[in-house]
Amino acid sequence: MYIKKQRLLTPGPTPLYPPALHAMMRSDMHHRTEDFRKVYRACLADLKEVMGTSNDLLMFAASGTGAMDASVSNLFSKGDKVIVCVAGKFGERWADIAKAYGLDANVISVPYGQVVKPEQVAAALQAEPATKGVFVQASETSTGSMHDVEAMGRAIAKTDAIFVVDAITGLGTMPLDIDGWGLDVVIGGSQKAFMVPPGLAFMSVSPKAWKLGETSNLPHYYFNLKKEKKSGDAGESSWTPATAMILALGEALVYVKQIGMAHLIKNAQMLAQATRAAAGKLGLEIFSAASPGSSVTAITAPAGMDSGVIVKEFRSRFGSIIANGQGSMKGQIFRIAHLGYFDFADLFAMIACLEIILNANGHPVQYGTGVAAAQEVYAQAAVKSLK
Ligand SMILES: *Cc1c(COP(=O)(O)O)cnc(C)c1O
Repeated sequence: MYIKKQRLLTPGPTPLYPPALHAMMRSDMHHRTEDFRKVYRACLADLKEVMGTSNDLLMFAASGTGAMDASVSNLFSKGDKVIVCVAGKFGERWADIAKAYGLDANVISVPYGQVVKPEQVAAALQAEPATKGVFVQASETSTGSMHDVEAMGRAIAKTDAIFVVDAITGLGTMPLDIDGWGLDVVIGGSQKAFMVPPGLAFMSVSPKAWKLGETSNLPHYYFNLKKEKKSGDAGESSWTPATAMILALGEALVYVKQIGMAHLIKNAQMLAQATRAAAGKLGLEIFSAASPGSSVTAITAPAGMDSGVIVKEFRSRFGSIIANGQGSMKGQIFRIAHLGYFDFADLFAMIACLEIILNANGHPVQYGTGVAAAQEVYAQAAVKSLK
């Protein structure tokens, strides 16, 4: 029996930033006091700053899906025509939410591993000028793909439709010029690049989105954007907040500001690049080769090998939890995460573990081949840019 440290290496929840965990211990604090208001105000302001937007910023005690739900129930009306881009499990979630609230959704679906093209969105907008909104994932975590939200935003900005972007794993892994690209609603969650546990969802809301919301007739109560905006302006949340989580997020945001959002993104991008290089040398295919994102790299298991074996052996041999494929991709792919509190040392070790697992399961590789490819990427670029 050897020591096996438990390591959480999934694309959400992600590895936790230790000072943020320590901050949670200060949660013997009442939420209607100046002490708390100070923390809450700082959290909202820092989120706005790292997201780089002048739009309003709202926060909820919920997982990311809570904010997705809120964006539909507060801004749209029954029967509204919308376009939903579906490139994976999270795109399917948008379609489900739209359906649950009785929107008239034109679902643009592409096979898993591919992405919806901006031209497809532009064409659908042209075909239906009454479209009120377009929904997409900036980063589709289930397939490891990313969408060209900049080009989509350009097409949507010319119309009356608002652009609702699930950036839950996009934030901190890809540049998102929220104001410049016309991203009217941008949704994030605490357990992804923000390095803290699950439990907080947040979203930015543009003036164009608020305007559409004025005519919304869908039922909602707990998730009330207008009420939350008013409360936030007063340094409070509408209901009892997740105080411990807000303390944690506040601490993590200090760190993100310190390293800089651009560097957090660069960090994920470098890890993703190194992972793709390693996978190539190990004879493995990138599942989302058409448009690979940097939040997570989805790798196809070698022919004849169930990806569940790789996931299971990461756990049993090395104590590490990595992600399998979701839905019908289960058994086909495994996913290596890069978002948030991941570093090169994590990645080198992960690839070394992967080489051992591949060798033990009928996909022979020369030890060190993948690790060397990742080291090479680090040596070429990261040494300069990440110091
Ligand atoms: C994690 C994630 C979500 C939110 O899932 P929750 O379980 O509600 O936090 C939504 N979209 C994407 C792309 C995600 O990665």
